[in-house]
Amino acid sequence: MLLEMNPQEFVQFLKEEKIKRFYFVYEKGTKTVKASHPALQELADFIQNDKRDFMEHEGAFFQISSAYDVLQGAFVHRTNRGQAAGGVRFWQYNSMEDYLRDGLRLAKGMTRKNALAGLWWGGGKGVMAHNPKYDKMDAKLRESVYKDFGRLMTSIRGCYVTAEDVGTSVEDMANIFSQTRFTTCIPEQLGGSGNPSVPTASGVVAGMEAALDFLDMGTLEGKTIAVQGMGHVAEPLIGFLFEKHVKKVIAADINAGLVDEVKHKYSGQPLEARKVNADDRSILFEECDIVAPCATGAVLNPQTIPNIKAKIVCGAANNQLENSARDGKALMEKGVTFVPDFLTNRMGIVNCADEQSGYIDNDPLFTRHLDRDWEYSIFRTTLKVLTESLQNNQSPADVAVRLADELSLQDNPIYGHRGEKIIRSLVKRNWQDLG
Ligand code: NAD
Repeated sequence: MLLEMNPQEFVQFLKEEKIKRFYFVYEKGTKTVKASHPALQELADFIQNDKRDFMEHEGAFFQISSAYDVLQGAFVHRTNRGQAAGGVRFWQYNSMEDYLRDGLRLAKGMTRKNALAGLWWGGGKGVMAHNPKYDKMDAKLRESVYKDFGRLMTSIRGCYVTAEDVGTSVEDMANIFSQTRFTTCIPEQLGGSGNPSVPTASGVVAGMEAALDFLDMGTLEGKTIAVQGMGHVAEPLIGFLFEKHVKKVIAADINAGLVDEVKHKYSGQPLEARKVNADDRSILFEECDIVAPCATGAVLNPQTIPNIKAKIVCGAANNQLENSARDGKALMEKGVTFVPDFLTNRMGIVNCADEQSGYIDNDPLFTRHLDRDWEYSIFRTTLKVLTESLQNNQSPADVAVRLADELSLQDNPIYGHRGEKIIRSLVKRNWQDLG
């Protein structure tokens, strides 16, 4: 069973079969997923029959790295709005099922984030399975692995454009960029857009302001906000909240040094910050107006939701709901207004979305996401989602997904549904045998 193999066993299997590159591609007419090699059809069938993570993904392209036996994959979900865009992660997986599921789920998530942001990008994700035999942080390994990933990008001719993600650094992006033009998030000194964390924090503020407006709670002035995490996004977020004259920020992080640093930076401001243990969720239960999860995912679940006292949850962390349907409903029933994370944390991808178009100070392509005039701004989209949630008695997460899925089917006004055509041309050229 290929599905149960771990990625290293699978790489071994591929070597025995003399397969270096392979793909799975969705055929719309027959509604089937086809594998490039008959020996791999079992995995294609798994994808095709999966109800949880598969949503007619257009294709997925894989290779074994030239050294270190890393399985590298580019998952392309939907390209109606433009080339699939999303970061590449370097992670450890226990089985091929976990690996494929993660790629499918994350690629679909990027389609939704990009579409709801009104970006003319589709959704995709790069996933590389780390081989635990080697030290993942070794500079030589990383250079080799990320350069290979760049070559994979070039070979698939732009149906997916990669970016930074957890576990991938700016140096890694530079290595990718040395092999392909199909990447964003390259270092600033090579013309990239720079650190996305500050823009992400601004987006969270816009989401908070929209939720307050929706609930007739006024502005951020005088409010108390509890922030989980004090890292790259949370630290500038705390600063923005002080600029908005909040009454108090309560913050927690597991990193004692970081807690001290942030306390020092904002000394003189109404900040209560504490070091917590990883299993300490007490920050979510503070008496406050807004809770902002800015640390890890899945923090909203049956153990935490009953204890939340805030009226609003709005933060940067990805996938805050452990189970979208169950926990979205539970928050609604408790009277907590949840601003979906993929709506409010979009600014990371927005920041690098137009790298190719050059830079302008106060670029309207960027600032419109943060103002209130543009239909797809964070503020207006949040109001739309919360209003429809109330009208239809549907959780904000469900409404946001529905709106995003509708938008994701709009074809790019210039290029049409070109990504799908690129995929078809790759299949025709026998991509698996090239390079
Ligand atoms: P980060 O690693 O810099 O910060 C996360 C912080 O959370 C760390 O300081 C860590 O010590 C702390 N933490 C971990 N577990 C904790 C716990 N149980 N309690 C309290 N603190 C805990 O990451 P970041 O870039 O600030 O991103 C934060 C979240 O936002 C992540 O989920 C990330 O995926 C998401 N996000 C970030 C961006 C971005 O631009 N950086 C964009 C979109 C989404």
